Amino acid sequence: MMLKINEIYHSIQGESTSAGIPCVFVRLTYCNLRCTYCDTEYAFYDGKDMSVQQVIDEVEKYNCRLVEVTGGEPLVQMDECLDLMKKLCDLGFEVLIETGGSLLIKDIDHRVKIIMDLKCPSSNMEKKNLYENLKYLKPTDELKFVIGNREDYDWSVEKIKKYNLFGKYAILFSVVFGELEPVQLVNWILEDKLDVRFQLQMHKYIWHPETKGV
Ligand code: SF4
Repeated sequence: MMLKINEIYHSIQGESTSAGIPCVFVRLTYCNLRCTYCDTEYAFYDGKDMSVQQVIDEVEKYNCRLVEVTGGEPLVQMDECLDLMKKLCDLGFEVLIETGGSLLIKDIDHRVKIIMDLKCPSSNMEKKNLYENLKYLKPTDELKFVIGNREDYDWSVEKIKKYNLFGKYAILFSVVFGELEPVQLVNWILEDKLDVRFQLQMHKYIWHPETKGV
């Protein structure tokens, strides 16, 4: 099975409850969405063909037990991506996947921690959310809202209430970088006493925000 791979690199996990931990990132090419704030457009088309085994060989070179499969949207290459994650789990890696939430997550190996977005209105991709996915998230998975303005915030709170998501799994709130001040989002969370986890994209502060491969 061949995968189109945009990049494989070793860095610090910048987001999620694993933030701050060294991690190998496997970035798969292609995305079926076009979010207004996308910071990985370079992954839409560029990449090289690698077999699942070649990807595993590359990952193993870093001697790092945490691996994140990301994109783009990694589930565009569904079968190959599922196979890669299963094999990484079999080898004892702790595997995370970041997915935009528009493609079905049902068949992902249960050992993989899923970090899934619900796309807010300002992404322009709200209509692509596959709400069916919410029932496949495990208590150990994470649901992420990337918030660009007050409308996005209100929309996120409404969805969490509508689908009764508080306490089901970790809920991450982050800002669209450069669009919404972190302090503003934190203030809203505190005012509403929301049981969510605020997060910053740590890598955008450690390195220049446009730096690739970090
Ligand atoms: S899902 Fe991610 S990679 Fe795809 S367009 Fe949106 S931000 Fe970019």
